[in-house]
Amino acid sequence: MTEIAKRFESKVERIPFMECWVWTGATHERGYGVIGRGARGEGNERAHRLSYRLYKGEIPEGKVILHKCGNTFCVNPNHLEAGTQKENAADTKAMGRLKLPNNSGENAKWAKLTLEQVKEVIAVKGGKRGIGAELAKRFGVSKSTIYQIWSGNNWQKL
Ligand SMILES: [Zn+2]
Repeated sequence: MTEIAKRFESKVERIPFMECWVWTGATHERGYGVIGRGARGEGNERAHRLSYRLYKGEIPEGKVILHKCGNTFCVNPNHLEAGTQKENAADTKAMGRLKLPNNSGENAKWAKLTLEQVKEVIAVKGGKRGIGAELAKRFGVSKSTIYQIWSGNNWQKL
């Protein structure tokens, strides 16, 4: 395994029930994971693009990598596909219809969290490794709950 592949693996958490591979490394402000290319001055690469290259091969020229699952922080290669910018926009629209199990209202796994706490979770998405576990512990919920909040499918009503 190459050095960058090892670093990539060390920043991924696999959450069985949602199948997404959650990026625990640094994130771009728009929610994409980023990883340093290696040497100083080489800059960052988007984590999902790296995942595609590591597991599926080179990205066809002019193509962007789309998230079929709708979770921008996901780096599961099986959830990624190469497409055009136009398809990307269509995808983003379709994402609104993709739902995780019903967690609204009374069913909400995080009903014990206050609105302020949920907002705090959303605000700290990404960043340092282990932050999901830390928040889960602090608020007394499971890590999955934190990831679901981050996935953004259940808090439109906030
Ligand atoms: Zn995914």
